[in-house]
Amino acid sequence: MRTIRLYDTATREPRPFEPRDPNAVGIYACGPTVYSRVHVGNARPFVVFSQLKRFLEHEGYGVTLVANITDINDKIYDAARAAGRESADLAREMTAHYIADTERLGLGRPDREPLASEYVEPIISLIGALVERGHAYPADGDVYFRVRTLPEYGSLSRRDVDQMDQGEGVEGAHLKEDPLDFALWKAHKEGEDTSWDSPWGRGRPGWHIECSAMAETLLGLEFEIHGGGIDLVFPHHENEVAQTLAGRGRPLARMWMHNGMLEAAEGEKMAKSVGNIRGLAEVLDEVGGETLVLYFSTGHYRQPLMFTPESLEAAGNAARRLREAGRRLSAGESPERLAVHRDAFFDALAEDFNTARALPALYEWVGAANKLPEGTGDSHLREMLGVLGLESLLSEEEGPPSEAVELAERRSEARAAKDWAEADRLRDELRELGWEVRDGPQGPELVPAS
Ligand SMILES: [Zn+2]
Repeated sequence: MRTIRLYDTATREPRPFEPRDPNAVGIYACGPTVYSRVHVGNARPFVVFSQLKRFLEHEGYGVTLVANITDINDKIYDAARAAGRESADLAREMTAHYIADTERLGLGRPDREPLASEYVEPIISLIGALVERGHAYPADGDVYFRVRTLPEYGSLSRRDVDQMDQGEGVEGAHLKEDPLDFALWKAHKEGEDTSWDSPWGRGRPGWHIECSAMAETLLGLEFEIHGGGIDLVFPHHENEVAQTLAGRGRPLARMWMHNGMLEAAEGEKMAKSVGNIRGLAEVLDEVGGETLVLYFSTGHYRQPLMFTPESLEAAGNAARRLREAGRRLSAGESPERLAVHRDAFFDALAEDFNTARALPALYEWVGAANKLPEGTGDSHLREMLGVLGLESLLSEEEGPPSEAVELAERRSEARAAKDWAEADRLRDELRELGWEVRDGPQGPELVPAS
């Protein structure tokens, strides 16, 4: 086994990856709050941790990746109220969009994608343990974490506790023993259309507690890697660390990994408030999943990454060159003399998952293979692209046969003429050919029948 080193935010240095059980490596990555369609920045942790899982599996580990979906939150209540809808209904719709949009990246799904609303019981039980141990206190139907009871507080973000701001504003400020304390449970408020019973009255969980509870339920304590965007280190992850350590007496995770943010220009972060954010679906319509995944891979995950038309175009060109190179190859063992490039690729990933350094090795493999006769074995390239989630670049794009296209056109005409019986008959005929019409972003499209 290759020695893998990963940068641990908690210790601020790369550490050897030495899981307690190589066959049961748990990774938990914080996912989106589903109050609107996800933006392209949300896709970065999704890509990074999906690829990391693939790499660790390639190296022989058994991995379970959990990525949560926050479906109870002030932003969801606000957005639902503004739209005159039920919050649970809006969250359900945006969750479905999030699944469909990220599906188009072609990386498959995380093993588990828990929703906060389905884990209220373990959340309440963890809050109960915190109250019992004196680390939390109920106040007027809310429950707050008593930060100063935990000497380790601040160890992840390395901030001075006296300079900390939990970002909860004036909400509950008069109920807190200390402004540093943060909400674990919030009493039901007028205008909120979801709530659950608890020992402290009806209400709903605060944000940070859901991840401590869901991660413990699905991966146990002291699982290997907790990840997310660098913007989550404080307060979200600091508070996750605190809740579990105080409530259980054991750490939540053994290592913390954080991805950098997307930037619209050097030093200019992408944010809703700045108005330079782009929807994931919109970007995928434009460039497709392979180009976007390749684009993310051009940067080291910990660094900020510039999101510009030029960087997307460069990734699109690279994807095209890889596809072309693949056409010259044939299925089978690659020659041993190319192995040096493949090994360099995986060695770069072993050094803090440096995809930015691994890609040049992959391109060198392609350059060397292009000098060999046509029909050279593609196994190395398949192996490398598989870890990045780009193995589809090696499968021929086969469009629908002309008969299917013609049937689909006749079906559209029949539908336009409201001849539903004929449209149904043509649909069945299409199915027999192995194709079906689906409504895609650019209108109806022919896809292989499922
Ligand atoms: Zn989280």
